[in-house]
Amino acid sequence: MEKFPDAHSHVQHAVDVRLPLHLARRDLERVHQPAYLDAVSYDVAIAATTASPGLTRYARNRLGLPANPRLLARSTLETAGTVAATLAALDVGMAANLAGGTHHAFPDRGLGFCVLNDVAVAVEYLRAHGRLPDQILIIDTDAHQGNANHAFFRNDPNVFTYSLHVGKNYPAAKEPGDQDVPLPRYVSGEAYLEALQSTLPSALARTEPDLVFWISGADVHADDRFGQMSLSDTQIAERDHYVLGQCQHYVAPLVVLYGGGYNRTPGKTGWLHAQTILRVTEAFADSKT
Ligand SMILES: [Zn+2]
Repeated sequence: MEKFPDAHSHVQHAVDVRLPLHLARRDLERVHQPAYLDAVSYDVAIAATTASPGLTRYARNRLGLPANPRLLARSTLETAGTVAATLAALDVGMAANLAGGTHHAFPDRGLGFCVLNDVAVAVEYLRAHGRLPDQILIIDTDAHQGNANHAFFRNDPNVFTYSLHVGKNYPAAKEPGDQDVPLPRYVSGEAYLEALQSTLPSALARTEPDLVFWISGADVHADDRFGQMSLSDTQIAERDHYVLGQCQHYVAPLVVLYGGGYNRTPGKTGWLHAQTILRVTEAFADSKT
């Protein structure tokens, strides 16, 4: 996906970009089933020597990504970026992964371009290392419901999931979450912002979070192929400033993640993600002055 190098080229002058830490297989297995990880790592070149049959055609279609022997390594690197950003946010207050927000990945299956669930891996990494904050809030403003996060954290008293999305869009099977805000198809930017501003404060007030993950989502843009929302560039900026302001009000460490983006205009998705990261950078600088 070209959005990753595109966004990097837009932000590299303004942010201190660091490579993520190494994640071991056991870090993934706290969330994902070993048989699923084996299937994702299947490489046609070693088919004769591996016990794993790889992903079935159905599983690959559900994931939406072509066969690639580097798929697990690439997805692990992306997830490692979220873990590294989480540790950095706990240390300095705010950090972003220039990827991540893979909120459709379940323990035993990947859906909608999401192979590994980066937020779940990061939360379980903190828990395993005795660093789990008491209250974690996941703010998901991507156009699609954060179904796998809703399901994974449903009975976790330390994690509250909030998702603002189109109600009748992918994923078809919704998962109940702690706070779900379904919106109509092709919702206007004004209505999206109104819904955000009337529901996010209660999620923050209920949790008084010690750590926030924000899956921002560039697929809320009016020219996105899959988002079914109608936000302009300016309205996305307004969204970003509002979420950042709300999180800063609670002085909660904040981890910012991309989520989806599939804009019709070449280069636009990377640009949109980059603008969000640049706003995060500005907010971080302001918080230091
Ligand atoms: Zn999405």
